[in-house]
Amino acid sequence: MTQSAIEVSSAGVAYGNMKVLNDVSLTVEQGTAMLILGANGAGKTTLLKAIMGFLPLREGELSLLGHNVKQASTAKRVKLGISYMSELGLFPPLSVEDNLKLGCHGLHRRKVKERLDEAYAIFPDLVARRKEAAGSLSGGQRKMVGISKCLMSHPSVLLMDEPSAGLSPKYVAEVIAVLGELRKTGLTLLVAEQNVSFLAAADNACVIESGRISFRGTIAELEDNTTLHDAFFGLEGLNDHLDS
Ligand code: ATP
Repeated sequence: MTQSAIEVSSAGVAYGNMKVLNDVSLTVEQGTAMLILGANGAGKTTLLKAIMGFLPLREGELSLLGHNVKQASTAKRVKLGISYMSELGLFPPLSVEDNLKLGCHGLHRRKVKERLDEAYAIFPDLVARRKEAAGSLSGGQRKMVGISKCLMSHPSVLLMDEPSAGLSPKYVAEVIAVLGELRKTGLTLLVAEQNVSFLAAADNACVIESGRISFRGTIAELEDNTTLHDAFFGLEGLNDHLDS
């Protein structure tokens, strides 16, 4: 039997005395995509940071690809094959290529060249911009740089924090299409979002409310849940409004 990519059991996470995540459990199977939905401040980023090891688990357990990593450093987790794209996703003053090279930490120069070629083959639009500051790119191109930077280490699991942040609907659609392509390669995805359009790129979803998981299931089960459907349809309308 294959190991789950991510297994979080009864996790609790706090900032100082303020408990932000309570009794959070979720499992992401290898090669599947899960969407974490939740409003501002629900705890999505905190959960991703805890999985990466940027924040410690106060309670509960965490396994990545079959390894218990509750006490493991972020570097160890990255070595296991996990990669993380923050909301910003890149360093705006650095060139596109330097951003990509940051994702190649520890690789031999020859391998770096190979990985750069791979990235430019996936996102040919970046070739002409490779020497330019990443911050000067369009919102959609910046996300492509952020995604490419994460892919440079050939991860098997990619965590993404609000890939739609700051994007117009056109660019959101582009990012969703890219995620669709990445899924075909067998990459496991865990994506935190408020934008329900991302359900199109997922197999499963969970909903976080005030630091607790209030729903876990397939996309079809989420859509059948009238309360959640109405709540998130409202949110989608709001997103469209803000983007226009
Ligand atoms: P958003 O969509 O707005 O990014 P989120 O669901 O990702 O929201 P988190 O960023 O995980 O939510 O925040 C969860 C809670 O933790 C919020 O109440 C937030 O104010 C609090 N919080 C986040 N970061 C810190 C921090 N560094 N110190 C103290 N509290 C924090």
